[in-house]
Amino acid sequence: MGRWGKSVELRHCHFPLDSFALTVKDEAQQIGSTVGTMAIKQPVSPPPLPQPPSQPLQDVPSPSAEKAPLDVLIVDDDQTIREMVARMVRGMGHAVYLAATGREALQRLQEHTLDIVLLDIMMPEMDGFEFCRIVQAEKKWPDLHIIITSARDTLEDKVKGLELGATDYLTKPFSMTELKARIRVGERIVRYRKALKEQQALLEYMAREDKLTGLYNRRHFEERAQEEWLRAHRYYHPLSLVFGDIDHFKKVNDRYGHAYGDKVLKEVSQTLLQHCRSNDLIARYGGEEFTVLLLETRLEDACVVAERLRAAVKALTFTHPSGPFQVTMSFGVACVSSEEPQSLTALLEEADKALYMAKHKGRNRVEQYTGSQLITPALASGTGKA
Ligand SMILES: [Mg+2]
Repeated sequence: MGRWGKSVELRHCHFPLDSFALTVKDEAQQIGSTVGTMAIKQPVSPPPLPQPPSQPLQDVPSPSAEKAPLDVLIVDDDQTIREMVARMVRGMGHAVYLAATGREALQRLQEHTLDIVLLDIMMPEMDGFEFCRIVQAEKKWPDLHIIITSARDTLEDKVKGLELGATDYLTKPFSMTELKARIRVGERIVRYRKALKEQQALLEYMAREDKLTGLYNRRHFEERAQEEWLRAHRYYHPLSLVFGDIDHFKKVNDRYGHAYGDKVLKEVSQTLLQHCRSNDLIARYGGEEFTVLLLETRLEDACVVAERLRAAVKALTFTHPSGPFQVTMSFGVACVSSEEPQSLTALLEEADKALYMAKHKGRNRVEQYTGSQLITPALASGTGKA
């Protein structure tokens, strides 16, 4: 008895003698040989799972970089081989999918997100080379790790398979131990790729985020706003923009310190976020200034949203040890419509002008840009946005 557990006789199995061969030695279990058949040592009780590879990239906390099971497709027209390999792959802790032809394998690819494919070459309907050719041409599965397992063992076959996108080539008859080792190599590569993608996504997220408040930052806002402005302009959809600024925020910093000022910014941000609609795009534009892009929203409705934001911020109470206090915000609102084609820059400027007007009129209020509000430099410089 080997470490796989007791041996199982397959006396009643009917399979072609030339389809695979078996040995009683675990380490030498071979599949795909043309030698006659006797008995198989089956992995009735699979050995304990190996420890997962150490985390590929430090400081990348991702489940896929640890021990999440991978999705493995076994493609072989020989049912006995499929089932035997499937048992082994399941024993490694992975999810298994089966296909008997290249065409079925393509179907599985469409249905599931697969990581590794163990691919026979000689199959009816569509052979393994044709499967590789289609996968390569479609460009939909660039990270698929394909291990060819074939009795075709010429140099030309191996080169052809690898050039068609396979990442490994194992000739039949192969030992289960070797196949397992090749799958482990595939596992490492797949997990590295996943960890890299997750790290890339994290970096992209961090590049979009304002670190203090968790809202989008100005750069991301302007990128998204540009896309939305083009869409609105093309399809004649209304699009509004709100600029908001905390009134006299410098006094908050001067009186309570910058650390407490940061706390105020965070709390105001959360309040604004909670009172925006789900598809509004809100960002910290800089300092104590915030922007909200409102899709499919006309000027009057955007003013309603801005008024809601203003009231929500005013209702906040900050409990500093020296005593509670409140802050207020001023808002400027502008809207783009097909009748007045303009640029995103113009829209930003208009909302900013309306914000200046709100400051000028006494703060803690909402002003809309109507086209006739041309704030003179003298007026703007006289009030500032503090
Ligand atoms: Mg075959």
